[in-house]
Amino acid sequence: MHNLELFYMLAEQTTNGIILTDADKRIIYVNKAFTISTGYSYEEALGKNPSFLQSGYHDIPFYKQLWSSIRIKGQWQGEIWNKRKNGEIFIEWQNIMALRNEQGDITHYGAVFSDITERKRIETKLQSDNKLLKRQIHTDSLTGVHNRRYFDESLKRRWNSLAKIRSYLSLLLIDVDFFKEYNDLYGHLQGDSCLREAASVLAMRLPRSFRVCRYGGEEFAVLLPGLSASETYSMAELLRESVHQHAIPHSHSKISDRITVSIGGATVVPKLSVDPEHLVQLADEALYTAKQNGRNRILCLPVTGDRS
Ligand code: GH3
Ligand code: MG
Ligand code: MG
Repeated sequence: MHNLELFYMLAEQTTNGIILTDADKRIIYVNKAFTISTGYSYEEALGKNPSFLQSGYHDIPFYKQLWSSIRIKGQWQGEIWNKRKNGEIFIEWQNIMALRNEQGDITHYGAVFSDITERKRIETKLQSDNKLLKRQIHTDSLTGVHNRRYFDESLKRRWNSLAKIRSYLSLLLIDVDFFKEYNDLYGHLQGDSCLREAASVLAMRLPRSFRVCRYGGEEFAVLLPGLSASETYSMAELLRESVHQHAIPHSHSKISDRITVSIGGATVVPKLSVDPEHLVQLADEALYTAKQNGRNRILCLPVTGDRS
């Protein structure tokens, strides 16, 4: 068998689409894979400019750049969105080349492409599944705010980065007062919605650069990187007040007719030699004292650690 016949067999059997045009970009040959992929028969494609497949997804500069690359470098490779005969948009990995004669004149153009639509679809789905999974890993399923795992990770991350620049790191621990009594009176299900509501009030009130995390049970945690002790106190007051203002009824609270929170705050200058858990212990001690002092109140410890 002649080489030419062999090449023809190869072209007809490969799953890659092949297009050959003359120097004026009029199609003189397409293979079987082209027809399978685009839906256009050999007869339908013959004489047409390959631009008849255009999807409208690329702008004029895209095609200009493509043809200038073919003229200058002899070829172009990349992804192209095209349109099938049935109107479906598909993505191809295209390799387009200029074929020249011995004098160096372009006599033909050739293109070999593979239909990567399905691969792209799977890739995109995997990416969005991954994003979703990542979000789920860091989200508290009851309240929708960030969870303890997210808090632990961001505490470590912030601790290490702020230790290097000797900046402040503050923590607020926010605990719902008399929540056991709330559950006992209204039931666990309403207790759940009370936690959801409290979480969303805190999340809405907090500036966007900070995150509310559900630390556990009826306790929330907020990390405040870069804030001084007095700014930390102001933020705590904003949050305490917003829960109070929201006025979730709690007739068995011993101090109010509505849900209130106590807040413990601490501000440190992190050190790499100290465990980040140290900050949690400080805020927890402050929270304990705020409870002892009568609840619906804040206790923020003065700064520990040196910035110099
Ligand atoms: P204090 O004023 O000292 O904070 O007392 P408290 O009753 O708020 O705190 P305590 O630790 O005694 O009780 C917390 C309660 O929170 C007990 C637990 O059943 C309830 N709790 C923890 N997680 C959940 C939850 O996911 N849903 C509901 N409904 N209740 C929860
Ligand atoms: Mg508690
Ligand atoms: Mg409590």
